[in-house]
Amino acid sequence: MTRVAFIGLGNMGSGMAANQAKAGREVVAFDLSADALKRAKDQGMTPATSAGEACKDADIVITMLPAGQHVREIYLQAILPNAPKDALLIDCSTIDVDSARTVARDASMQGFRAGDAPVSGGAAAAQGGSLTFMVGCREQDFAEIEEALKPMAKAIIRAGDSGAGQAAKICNNMLLGISMIATSEAFALAEALGLDAQRFFDISSKASGQCWSMTSYCPWPGPVPAAPSNRNYEGGFAAAMMLKDLKLAQDAAEVAGAPTPLGGAAEALYGELVRGGHGGKDFSIILQMLRGTLALNRE
Ligand code: NAD
Repeated sequence: MTRVAFIGLGNMGSGMAANQAKAGREVVAFDLSADALKRAKDQGMTPATSAGEACKDADIVITMLPAGQHVREIYLQAILPNAPKDALLIDCSTIDVDSARTVARDASMQGFRAGDAPVSGGAAAAQGGSLTFMVGCREQDFAEIEEALKPMAKAIIRAGDSGAGQAAKICNNMLLGISMIATSEAFALAEALGLDAQRFFDISSKASGQCWSMTSYCPWPGPVPAAPSNRNYEGGFAAAMMLKDLKLAQDAAEVAGAPTPLGGAAEALYGELVRGGHGGKDFSIILQMLRGTLALNRE
């Protein structure tokens, strides 16, 4: 039976690991949280006492951790010293491109096959096995990485070599952050000009201003019933997570010398929203900040 070591059982990792187990793989799971380990055990996984122990005898090692520093540490201290050399190493966290390339290089220097595979889709898609994976890896390793990710995926796309998955993820999310602000600004201006919001949606969703932020995730409550705007911006994709991805994009742009003036403006606006106390709300709540209807903590 294929043995999967899964490290990081938070909002995303818990559902992803459960789908590996449902696919008939033996999952040895590790997280710093005792509660997360207990939930994993209840779902038929084997809890490990450390990340290193989880990796012993693994065929596949999957990590789903908060940020680059966690991934670098776990690779150096637990995975590379303990996993069998023929294990396939896949990091699904959203981290900076440089960290992704560093861990892939360290892994490959020690004879491992490794890839970065960040995801699009939130906790519901993680539970439902319908995430989209953007993969950075050597071409010859992709088929095996694809097979490893299948129980958790709706789509798996190779973006290029190591780090390319992270590059695709942060570029996509920078575009999403900007387009959500642009859509929100347009709704706020339409309102100020006396235009009915539903009428504006009916027109713009069929005209050249149409985009995903408007037609699938409309920040104005009403036109798109499934959007978080209809649930007081609860659930969905947290504004704090959007800010994290926008910061990663700005850091990467600075290193690459790429001009991203709108990405910078988006980071500043989401920074204001999160500092104002709304980091836990869905990122489309930025509409309410732009309309001036949101109380912002200014401390
Ligand atoms: P989370 O904070 O819920 O989970 C992270 C888990 O990692 C926690 O359970 C924590 O205890 C564990 N952890 C931290 N350090 C560890 C260590 N050294 N060893 C073992 N476990 C450790 O975060 P999440 O929402 O599951 O997100 C995980 C990653 O996925 C992040 O990089 C995030 O940016 C990305 N992501 C999240 C979403 C989302 O909607 N939540 C969507 C796409 C991508």
